[in-house]
Amino acid sequence: MKEKVLAFLKEKDGYCSGEEISHKIGVTRAAIWKAIKKLQADGYEIESSTKKGYKLLLAPNIVTSSEVKEHLRTECLGQMIHYEKEIDSTNNKAKELAREGAEEGLLVVADKQTNGKGRLGRNWESPEGTGIWMSLILRPKILPQYASQITLVAGLCMCETLKAMTGLEASIKWPNDVVINGKKICGILTEMSAEMEGVNYIILGIGVNVNMTVFPEELPYASSLALEGGMEYSRKAIIDDFLERFEKEYNSYKQTPNLAGIKERYEQNCITLHKKVKLIKNAEEIIAEAIGITTDGALKVRYEDDTIEDIVSGEVSVRGLYGYV
Ligand code: ADP
Repeated sequence: MKEKVLAFLKEKDGYCSGEEISHKIGVTRAAIWKAIKKLQADGYEIESSTKKGYKLLLAPNIVTSSEVKEHLRTECLGQMIHYEKEIDSTNNKAKELAREGAEEGLLVVADKQTNGKGRLGRNWESPEGTGIWMSLILRPKILPQYASQITLVAGLCMCETLKAMTGLEASIKWPNDVVINGKKICGILTEMSAEMEGVNYIILGIGVNVNMTVFPEELPYASSLALEGGMEYSRKAIIDDFLERFEKEYNSYKQTPNLAGIKERYEQNCITLHKKVKLIKNAEEIIAEAIGITTDGALKVRYEDDTIEDIVSGEVSVRGLYGYV
């Protein structure tokens, strides 16, 4: 209903009367008025004049289901969207919906998270109206040990999306953060429910700092596209581009569940490689040189005594010697 009224207002370049809309859609004028109120609450600026009717002044930079879906060209991912203006965590909501049987591809999007999650129980700052806070439900038929590889696929796709949409030099900090000018722009948190023999569902949670202009003091390594690029970006366009790229890669990953197909592109975009890094695990720090990525997504490192090890993501955090990357 709300969507129908919105589509009508978007089509029409000037005013249209409540009567005209109600006639076209086939509901009462009171129902139209209610829908208009809801759209205004979503952030649309709609002028209403008793004489002339309604006019859409500004379609804002918002990420409601109808805005995200308007130009989305995917087969499955994001074709169903659960949008909330405010939510504790999109990952929690996606998990709840997955447990209730929601299908692969359902996307939970929120305009603000009050309890956004990072890895290892850490907090993810998610203020209102400026970022992309979303979680995608996936149900691949793979063994649970492969699930973390999907996070690397998503990291690569988001890196490519952000480069394409902004022209900025985005890179991946292994395993799946996207950084620009040494600062964290995007974080990905994957959660999973699985049995020994297979995955029930994977929740791919993604946070992108799009249009924030300030960050709390305790996040010196965080930044946004707007701060790095000096302009505002469309959140829905970024979501659409990501879903289209990721759907393609995810479908080929399901055919051959390893990273051989994207390894070269991943390595080209990975800023962690070919330099010395700090590996942090349970407050213990070891210095090593990052020398490659394996086809199962591990970071190959060489320690100072020349021994080589494949580090799997999960418990380890990677930092540069002198900064975040
Ligand atoms: P890590 O890079 O240490 O593995 P995570 O991917 O788990 O971290 O992300 C959580 C961390 O990211 C938090 O501890 C915090 O330092 C930082 N953080 C929280 N919110 C944001 C944000 N909006 N943008 C960038 N970094 C953030």
